[in-house]
Amino acid sequence: MATSVTEPEPPAVTDVYDRAATAETAIGNLSLGDRCDLLGDLRLTIVEERDRILDAVQEETNMDRMNALVTMVAVLDHIRYLERNAESILGDETVNTPMTLMGKESRIYYEPLGTVLIIAPWNYPFYQAIIPITSAFVSGNAVVYKPSEHTPMEGLFESLFETAGFDDDWVQLVYGGGETGQRLLEGDPDKISFTGSTATGRQIASEAAESLTPVQLELGGNDPAIVFEDATIGRTARGIVWGAFTHSGQACIAVERLFVQASIAEEFAAELVAHVDQLEQDPSGGRGCDMGCMTTDFQVETVREHVEDAKAKGGTVLTGEDWDGESTEIPPIIIGEATEEMAVATDETFGPVLPIFEFESESEAIERANDTRYGLSASVWSGDTDRADRVARQIEAGSVCINDVIVNQGSPALPFGGTKDSGFGRYKGADGLKAFCETKSILADDDAGTNPYWYPHDEHKYELFEAVIESRFGQGHASLPRFMLAGLKLNRYTDSLHAESLRD
Ligand code: NAD
Repeated sequence: MATSVTEPEPPAVTDVYDRAATAETAIGNLSLGDRCDLLGDLRLTIVEERDRILDAVQEETNMDRMNALVTMVAVLDHIRYLERNAESILGDETVNTPMTLMGKESRIYYEPLGTVLIIAPWNYPFYQAIIPITSAFVSGNAVVYKPSEHTPMEGLFESLFETAGFDDDWVQLVYGGGETGQRLLEGDPDKISFTGSTATGRQIASEAAESLTPVQLELGGNDPAIVFEDATIGRTARGIVWGAFTHSGQACIAVERLFVQASIAEEFAAELVAHVDQLEQDPSGGRGCDMGCMTTDFQVETVREHVEDAKAKGGTVLTGEDWDGESTEIPPIIIGEATEEMAVATDETFGPVLPIFEFESESEAIERANDTRYGLSASVWSGDTDRADRVARQIEAGSVCINDVIVNQGSPALPFGGTKDSGFGRYKGADGLKAFCETKSILADDDAGTNPYWYPHDEHKYELFEAVIESRFGQGHASLPRFMLAGLKLNRYTDSLHAESLRD
């Protein structure tokens, strides 16, 4: 069951940033290759220590063992992706320089930001820690990591990083709740990577605005799944059941709203119920079971409120009617005849509740799926892959799965993040890695070429610049030889002006 920790005293938090500042230098002395090697050692440590990690995850979250295990696969794939790609993504880049700046070179360097503060939620405490920590570290940053007070897994990460060969200060763990999070924000990190609720994210963004600290927000979701009549019914129902009930629905990209085309709605609902009837729920989350139970009491309360609300507004409970409204062992609850006035439609339930809405046309499905303040992720299910792609493009979300669900999280080259009230910024993929860097642009000359932009200016130089514009960019007149000639004349004239001004 979820545990909790006491808030540390303020001086402890100040000390964290002093140590991180020292770590920044030490990490800066490591090459990108060295940092990738360390990640390789971390990967091996995780594989070696997997049972201890999975025990800790289960102990604190109550998730089933299989879910904890498959989440670990996504973590390991992410680390391997960084090992193989970080050097090419973050290595110095030479980019195109326009011919109007001939003789110069344009380069991009990806430099560490300094110290990155990562604040995490309670639902996937291993995944939510390792993914951003490794991304920030391989980019050359010192890391301060605050897990949720509900799933701190105290001591676990320290021992994993130590075994993998990390120095103590490179990745520091700070335990505590919102108060500690606040103090860490006031410690002036160089970037904040926050994953959690929209309400807290909003507060953090407004505080970060005061100090102009870059912030990345991975917030709540209310993901739609759209099922068209040409989808393979049995397969799709199996996917939706998993997408809605894995980790008892406590995944930010769990299916929270199911839109089914009216022509198959009855058959599809029956298929969902049949699959749910086969699920095995085990509070101890044994290796072969399908579901464990809820992590926190407050989330159980949210589920109870949403189910009560749905019933009061005319919803029919197709599965899970026997839940007493209190036990953390909430069975999968499917709600038929759902309407958009219900809390299950408007708010994030973050529990094993699946409301079904019926639609007639493609445009109606898109409009209703987008009728939410959230925009984290979505799934589209159809045998017509052109249609699925067309719909995916119109969904307002950071990610869309086609004929699958949630597994976008397992593809480490895909950037992940949301839009609307689900936040902004991306982590994972090349974009996500660069997000932990300062992008520095270099424009370099070899100290030989002339620069007509420099003083002195005069009327003739103006005319020569006009000739450059016409020959390079003008309609019908642009041609390379004319441009080269115009450029040559301009450069020669500039050289003569510079030589003259030196003589003066
Ligand atoms: P939460 O916002 O209550 O807490 C998240 C973290 O913020 C915790 O570590 C908490 O201690 C800290 N915190 C709370 N108040 C703070 C403050 N004022 N200043 C600094 N830190 C503070 O969220 P939660 O209940 O832990 O997580 C559940 C939410 O997270 C859900 O909405 C879920 O959708 C979302 N989530 C999003 C993603 C994503 O990638 N978008 C992933 C997982 C979970």
